[in-house]
Amino acid sequence: MSQIDGLPPLRDVIAAHGLIAKKSLGQNFLLDLNLTAKIARQAGDLANSDILEIGPGPGGLTRGLLVEGARKVLAVEKDSRAMAPLAEIQAVYPDRLEVINADALDLDPLEHLTPPIRIVANLPYNVGTELLVRWLTPLSWPPVWASLTLMFQKEVAERIVAQPGSKKYGRLAVLSQWRTTPRVVMELPPEAFTPPPKIHSAVVHFDALPAPRFEADPDKLQALVAKAFGQRRKMLRASLKGLRPDIEDVLTSVGIKPTSRAEEIGIEEFCALSRALAS
Ligand code: SAM
Repeated sequence: MSQIDGLPPLRDVIAAHGLIAKKSLGQNFLLDLNLTAKIARQAGDLANSDILEIGPGPGGLTRGLLVEGARKVLAVEKDSRAMAPLAEIQAVYPDRLEVINADALDLDPLEHLTPPIRIVANLPYNVGTELLVRWLTPLSWPPVWASLTLMFQKEVAERIVAQPGSKKYGRLAVLSQWRTTPRVVMELPPEAFTPPPKIHSAVVHFDALPAPRFEADPDKLQALVAKAFGQRRKMLRASLKGLRPDIEDVLTSVGIKPTSRAEEIGIEEFCALSRALAS
């Protein structure tokens, strides 16, 4: 079947370049270009944005982004085996696609892209969570990016959008909802990927808020929620005891019952507690 961009089907690209998926790199490829175009459309105003795509692999999502009209795509891929297939895409879009063979964890997007920058990625799940926390916790806000559109394990996506009182509410929910408006925009079954992973996946879109919803220092807030949810079944007066000898008084001073548990505490209260602990 011919493709809208004139490039061969991804299955043929993978076969031609011997790009066998490597488990060690968390490679589960999306080969259906209708699906990758649909994911690309979730990223927002592509025509007026530069896109940082992390982990393009054979380029299914990259092609989706370009077909859907992205102004520019910077694709950063660690696996050098993917450079040849990505070069073929680059030949079709010489002015709109730049490919870098590097670890995304080491890259400064502002060295290559012009804001507004939208980050789009179908990443290995462990790298995805690490990068998400990093993107959510720069010292100053708004960040360099305008939005994130990221694939996660469905269970992680549910944790990101969970509300207080839910068993899924935790560190990722607090950090995500503090500075962005995360929404689950798509769910994908294992069969959408080659090879199929064991779990279901979901795409989460995060728009950066112009300012955090409540004032707090990102590192201190992060350390606080890590501690509070690290022992989520304990009362806060016990789980946070190591932070300050007078933790019960500090909790009370910001209106939190020392006997409450982390999953009952809203983002506003966590921010207030973080500020009180810093003072
Ligand atoms: N985006 C492609 C798709 O949807 O078919 C590939 C997805 S695959 C789940 C994840 C890709 O991320 C792989 O190609 C892998 O080599 C790449 N990758 C893993 N860790 C990376 C890192 N730290 N920096 C850049 N790329 C990475």
